[in-house]
Amino acid sequence: MKLDDKLYLVRFNTDKLNHIKISDPNVCLQQCQDKPCTRFCPAHVYDWDEEEKRIAVGYEGCLECGTCLIGCPFGNINWKYPRGGFGVSWKNG
Ligand code: SF4
Ligand code: SF4
Repeated sequence: MKLDDKLYLVRFNTDKLNHIKISDPNVCLQQCQDKPCTRFCPAHVYDWDEEEKRIAVGYEGCLECGTCLIGCPFGNINWKYPRGGFGVSWKNG
């Protein structure tokens, strides 16, 4: 089974409080050419919005893997766990 297929098995209890913030959107726009967050996140949480010229964050789908804490070359992602009781829950284990 492919990773994207497995993602359909994941269930979420979405916290209305966004637990992921881009610290400085100007860093994304002006300094980060490659925008690796759009590739390293297994849940595709980050997407470059060409119209708005900013990273759009679909925090609701975060799998809490922690990769973005080390993956952003500018340390520009302020990531915290969702509040207790919220976030990802796993089906079948
Ligand atoms: Fe912005 Fe970091 Fe993503 Fe680059 S990797 S676009 S600095 S959040
Ligand atoms: Fe994506 Fe993992 Fe970061 Fe969540 S913790 S946004 S799944 S890279």
